[in-house]
Amino acid sequence: MSLRLYNTLTRQKDDLEALPGFDPNNVRMYVCGPTVYDYAHIGNARPVIVFDVLFRLLRHLHGEDHVTYVRNITDIDDKINARAAETAAAKGMSVEQARVEITAQTAQQYLDDVTALGCLKPSHTPRATEYVARMVAMIGELVTKGFAYPAEGHVLFDVSKKADYGKLSRRPLDEMIAGARVEVAPYKRNPMDFVLWKPSDAATPGWDSPWGRGRPGWHIECSAMGEALLGETFDIHGGGIDLMFPHHENEIAQSEAAHHGHALARVWMHNGFLQVEGEKMAKSLGNFITIRELLSGWRGYNWPGEVIRFAMLSTHYRQPIDFTQSILEQATVTLRYFSTFGFYEPTVGPSDEFLDALKDDLNTPRAIAELHRLLNEARGHASNRPNEMSKPNAMLNMETFTAANQLAAGLMFLGIDIRSYDKCWVENQGRESIAQNLEREVEAAIAARAAARKAKDFKESDRIRDELLAKGIVLKDGPAGTTWEVKR
Ligand code: AMP
Ligand code: ZN
Repeated sequence: MSLRLYNTLTRQKDDLEALPGFDPNNVRMYVCGPTVYDYAHIGNARPVIVFDVLFRLLRHLHGEDHVTYVRNITDIDDKINARAAETAAAKGMSVEQARVEITAQTAQQYLDDVTALGCLKPSHTPRATEYVARMVAMIGELVTKGFAYPAEGHVLFDVSKKADYGKLSRRPLDEMIAGARVEVAPYKRNPMDFVLWKPSDAATPGWDSPWGRGRPGWHIECSAMGEALLGETFDIHGGGIDLMFPHHENEIAQSEAAHHGHALARVWMHNGFLQVEGEKMAKSLGNFITIRELLSGWRGYNWPGEVIRFAMLSTHYRQPIDFTQSILEQATVTLRYFSTFGFYEPTVGPSDEFLDALKDDLNTPRAIAELHRLLNEARGHASNRPNEMSKPNAMLNMETFTAANQLAAGLMFLGIDIRSYDKCWVENQGRESIAQNLEREVEAAIAARAAARKAKDFKESDRIRDELLAKGIVLKDGPAGTTWEVKR
């Protein structure tokens, strides 16, 4: 089966390898990275995890040396400058010194956080400030070709010169103007024209350019870094759905205009948004959760990176996620179950069904369902009760061994290191852990339900069963008593 990815540009799943110009020896992916001035939040973690899985899949399909993954760091931006100006005032340094300090520190925190979430280092993590010369050159080319115009120290992209502007988001121009809360400025010819370059005053970080001292706009940063590291046309461009318009639309306009109309990317991929407990995450709502906070203490627990990652991958990347404590708890319990047989250094690859699920537009929920199937197969052969933890040992029969091995291989493929999860488990033993807690609760509920049934109080026994079901725990009544498993 070939790799099919949902392409926002065509609004369908495209067979990547069949797209014109695709070179299996040089597979290239660009993902918009963070703007670094503060800790990354759990929403920012989503594209990093999702595209890390795709990176692993591409490496598996085409070989590690044939895949290049670029995830940039935006280290020049007005939000960064605003934060740097505060720090500069407090510490008595220049805004530029403060910008350098803040972005270096935040970029490192980000890297540490996403490493804890099991993400591989991309092939390149360029910082925008390292590519300003290329941005200035690209803007110059756009001016020369008539796609951009200087005005009052700014340079603007003239969207009226790009007939297919809007083809990614497929919105007519007037609708975009109404929806985008675009900045209206007297120096713009058209309200949708966007900034390629803007002037910096003496206190603001800036670089020399033919249009005076200034700084690049955000969109041109990605176009220049993508071109420098991946060439004019590459295979996959990714980011969150919020970036589709205007950021990605503008990247397309600039790059195609600079590159004789050649496509910027063959496939455009967008992850869905993450919200927290039913609400948009916002500092003002008090529901803003950083990755660091989750790892180092949220609602009383240090959530292992493997758990956060697994919880995230349990939903398909294009669907929205409602992030709750409960999805972390369910992920914890599931991983605990998987770890029953998952200690092995896998000696086989993941199963075909697992790989096919990922090749079908990165269908991680289906891949995880296959892991559950493998777990049940391993358990069936080991004839264990589902809620009995078996220790890894050499006593397993061949069928159990194969299924358990494929389970471990699948987890490892998803970037879940069950051994470090287990290590973290052991380290946390001084404290009541989430899954132990849950197990105890479930066992107690099963006992209460058995008592209710014995007393012929079926209303109560059904209530207990439904309550567990709502938590994702399925009860199975059999001749040997009631067992339970985590809902798939
Ligand atoms: P930013 O630093 O805001 O440019 O965001 C970095 C990445 O995180 C981009 O790919 C965004 O689309 C993505 N992102 C930001 N917020 C969320 C969210 N709540 N859910 C999913 N992705 C998000
Ligand atoms: Zn970008």
